[in-house]
Amino acid sequence: SEALAHAESLIAGIPDFPQPGVLFRDISPLLADAQALRTVVDAVIEPFAGQFDVVAGIEARGFMLAGAVAIAAGVGMAPIRKAGKLPRPAASVSYALEYGTAEIEMSDDLEAGTRVLLVDDILATGGTLRAGQHLLDELGLQLAGTAVLMELVELQGRAVCGPVHSVFRV
Ligand code: IMP
Repeated sequence: SEALAHAESLIAGIPDFPQPGVLFRDISPLLADAQALRTVVDAVIEPFAGQFDVVAGIEARGFMLAGAVAIAAGVGMAPIRKAGKLPRPAASVSYALEYGTAEIEMSDDLEAGTRVLLVDDILATGGTLRAGQHLLDELGLQLAGTAVLMELVELQGRAVCGPVHSVFRV
């Protein structure tokens, strides 16, 4: 649609950030536009409407999306945080980055079996979303779906994290 095309045009491509050769996708201008934000939030929800009880967002840009999606869908949200930030981490998952490793954690505020929509801003290599899926699994939560605003297709992340609903693909 025209509204989606306009929203996509607001995602900025920043060359050589955070390293030379990387084209960083910055969703901030999209988030700042009321109509674009509403459009992408609705597009994230659409395939999963009625199928999730809570939205989990991955720190930090996933939080922004998860809060908006949760309000629009009429459900709550749960943060997935970088290790060391939560006062009561109930599960943690480590995963490989290009250089070194990362670790994410979650509290056990949700009942086992809760249907969770997992969201983040960008799907790159898929390692982050896969770790998020493992975390939900460790806590006995049910993955209702995985969604991102933008999938960087050539990095083949969905081979790592499985089916993903991506609003935009570049
Ligand atoms: P992956 O684990 O390689 O799929 O990387 C995804 C994670 O890195 C997500 O949490 C993103 O927020 C972040 N990320 C990767 N590439 C970009 C980008 O171009 N812009 C913004 N965030 C990115």
